[in-house]
Amino acid sequence: MTTSTREIHLASRPFGTPAPDDFRMVEVDLPDPGAGEVLVRNTVMSVDPYMRGRMNDVKSYVPPFALDRPLDGGAVGEVVASGDDSVPVGATVLHQAGWREHALLPAAAVRVVDASRVPASAYLGVLGMTGLTAYVGLTRIAELKQGDTVFVSGAAGAVGSVAGQLARLLGAGKVIGSAGSPEKVAWLTGELGFDAAFDYHDGPVAQQLREHGPVDVYFDNVGGDHLEGAIFHMNDFGRIAACGAIATYDAEAPTPGPRNLMMVVSKRLTLRGFIVSDHADAAKEFFTQAAGWLADGRLVHRETFVDGLDRAVEAFLGLGTGQNTGKMLVRLG
Ligand code: NDP
Repeated sequence: MTTSTREIHLASRPFGTPAPDDFRMVEVDLPDPGAGEVLVRNTVMSVDPYMRGRMNDVKSYVPPFALDRPLDGGAVGEVVASGDDSVPVGATVLHQAGWREHALLPAAAVRVVDASRVPASAYLGVLGMTGLTAYVGLTRIAELKQGDTVFVSGAAGAVGSVAGQLARLLGAGKVIGSAGSPEKVAWLTGELGFDAAFDYHDGPVAQQLREHGPVDVYFDNVGGDHLEGAIFHMNDFGRIAACGAIATYDAEAPTPGPRNLMMVVSKRLTLRGFIVSDHADAAKEFFTQAAGWLADGRLVHRETFVDGLDRAVEAFLGLGTGQNTGKMLVRLG
């Protein structure tokens, strides 16, 4: 028996902003699982900004995607055939073979998750990689202290929306966010409880942040003018968790650093980058706390769904234009 299914391949390496024809839909037949393997029908897959970096042929913390091979990334799904007793048919699993409707995987490459209390998609967002990123960035990298004023950029996205709420739950005195639309700003100061937020299209970050700062901790998802603006308004001995720089991912040439970098010296700032996968040991403490906060409503999350593998590329490209509020996901099943 075989299963006919579809997957998305990288057809060419994008230069600048990716275009739909950098990707190709491919039909494949998968064999039944052998001993120690499982066949998963994917129900939801994640699209993430870091995938843009993997489309370039450069050495980084994660290998580049291969041309004419399926892309990969986080996904959840249902086991539909199993050659391993530890992962039975019907189990909901989390794994890294996204960008396809079915995945044939070693049983050891999937993690069975409990989808009875939260939807399986939560393991791709608030209870998954992006939630853990927010937690690690605040606790281990920025070393958040009681009473700190925290500024989060990309604050209405998957990482940022959790980072702002966690900052408050972990003792921040004031939480400020930036995002790309009035609706997102209203969500931040409304449902998410940020003390202040602004739309970065309304004026230079440095100018808008002046009204709300100064800042002890900056959680940087954006880079570029956001980083420069935050440096202007950091308190002495402030800490910057350099999580990402989405403003620069599609740049066709290296982008200049902040023009005020000397302030890192004069203000004695710490600017520290991190990659969440180096901090897997923080996962248990985070998930335990986050599951509790989710259950009692102190942590809220939102998901933006795009339907169908045919629209997965559109969902990915939508990250660069802010089409998501909360976690961007593609519903497959
Ligand atoms: P998001 O859910 O935040 O989606 C991306 C968002 O970025 C968009 O919704 C858009 O929102 C915003 N954006 C896009 N272009 C720009 C721009 N030019 N300037 C300002 N904002 C922009 O994605 P994630 O939460 O998954 O990721 C957020 C950041 O965290 C990324 O930089 C990512 O690379 C990084 N990351 C780092 C990890 C690590 O281990 N260090 C792990 C996971 C993520 P808007 O409408 O507000 O513009």
